[in-house]
Amino acid sequence: MTLASVVLAAVACLGFFALMFLGSKVLPGRIVQGGVNESGAPKQYRLNGLALFLLTAVAQVVIAWSGLWSPAAIFRYFPALFVTANAFTLLLGFLLFFEGRRAGHGLGVGPANKLHDFLWGTRLNPEWRGVDLKMFSYRPSLIGLGLINVSFAFVQYQAYGELTARMWLYQLFYFGYLANYFQFEHGMLFTWDVLVERLGFLLIWGNYVLVPFFYSLPGWYLLDNPEPLRPAAATGLVLLYLFGFWLFRGANEQKHRFKINPRAEIWGKPAQTIGEKLLVSGFWGIGRKLNYTGELCLYWAWTLLCGSGSFVPYLLPLWLTLLLCHRAWRDEKRCRQKYGELWLEYCRHARFRMLPFLY
Ligand code: NDP
Repeated sequence: MTLASVVLAAVACLGFFALMFLGSKVLPGRIVQGGVNESGAPKQYRLNGLALFLLTAVAQVVIAWSGLWSPAAIFRYFPALFVTANAFTLLLGFLLFFEGRRAGHGLGVGPANKLHDFLWGTRLNPEWRGVDLKMFSYRPSLIGLGLINVSFAFVQYQAYGELTARMWLYQLFYFGYLANYFQFEHGMLFTWDVLVERLGFLLIWGNYVLVPFFYSLPGWYLLDNPEPLRPAAATGLVLLYLFGFWLFRGANEQKHRFKINPRAEIWGKPAQTIGEKLLVSGFWGIGRKLNYTGELCLYWAWTLLCGSGSFVPYLLPLWLTLLLCHRAWRDEKRCRQKYGELWLEYCRHARFRMLPFLY
C-alpha cells in the first residue's frame, strides 16, 4: 500500500459518499412517517434507497461495459480503501460528537461521559441538509458492500475467464438480499437501530467499515476457489437461502404491517394480539425472533458456498450468530421493561426465541 494509493482511495471514497448523499437528497421517493425524534415529534423520511441502489447497479454495468473503469480496481485498492474508510468514520464520529455536544446533547462533563458520547452518540436522528444521517448511512454501507462483491466477480473473471458456480450463486444470493433491504427500506424505520440507538462512532464504524469490508469475506474467499459445486449441494444451499428469505422477510413484513395497522391480516386471518400491542399471529406466534433466524440462514447459505477448505469465511456467520443472539437478549430486556406483564404473557405464548424447542 503506497501513499499514492491511499490518496486515490480517499478521493474515490469521498466521491462515492458524496454521490450517495446527492442521490439521497435529489432522487424521488415515498415520504413515509417513521417513529418520533428525541423531542417527541413525529419524523418523516424520504425513502429513495431502492432507486439509488438500482441506479448505482446500472451505472456500474454501463461504466464497466464502456471500459472506462473496471470494478476489479476496488479489489486492487482494498487495503487503501479500508484505511480511508476508517479515517472517514473517525472524522465523522468526531464531527457528530462535537456538533451534538455543542447543541446541548450528551451526558455531560468528565472523560467517561465524553467517551460514551463519542462511542454511542449524542443524538438519535441527526440530519444534515435535510437528510437523516442514520438512515443514510445504510446506503453507502450496503451499496458499498454490493460494489465490493461485484469487484470479486470481476477479478475472478479476469483470472479464470469465467465465474464459478459458487461465485454465481454468491452474487445472486447477495444481490437478492441487498435488493430486498432497499425494497423494504420502510421496514427499517421501526427497527431497534433506528428507534433506539444514537448515532455515534460505533454505529458509524459498523456501517462504513464493518459491513462493506467484513461482510464481503466469503466473496473474497470464493475468488480463488474454483472448486466445482455438486448439484445436490447447490440445491441444498438454494433451499436454505429461500427458506431463510421466507422467514426473514415474512417475519419483518408481518410485524411492520401490524405496526402500521393492528387489524392487518396475517396468513389470511385478522392479527391476534396480546393487549393489542404484541403480535402473536404468524411467525411471531411461533418464535419471538424468527426474523433473526431467517437472516442467519441467508448468511450461512452464502458462506457454505465456500466449502470446508478454511474456517476464515465462517467468521462472518459466526459473528452474526453471536451478534443476533446477544441482540435478541438485549431487545427482550427492553421489551420486558416496556411491556411488563404483557411481555411475560407473550413469552408464555411464543416460548422460543430463534429455534423452536431449542432456544
Ligand atoms: P426486530 O425487528 O425484531 O424489532 C424488535 C422490536 O420489535 C422490539 O423492540 C419491539 O419494539 C418490537 N416487537 C418485538 N416483538 C414484537 C411482537 N411480537 N409484536 C409487536 N412488536 C414486537 O429487531 P431489530 O430491530 O433488532 O432487527 C431488524 C432486522 O434487522 C432483523 O431482521 C435483523 O435480522 C436485522 N439485523 C441485521 C443485522 C446485520 O448485521 N445483518 C444486524 C442487526 C439486525 P416496539 O417497542 O416497537 O414494540
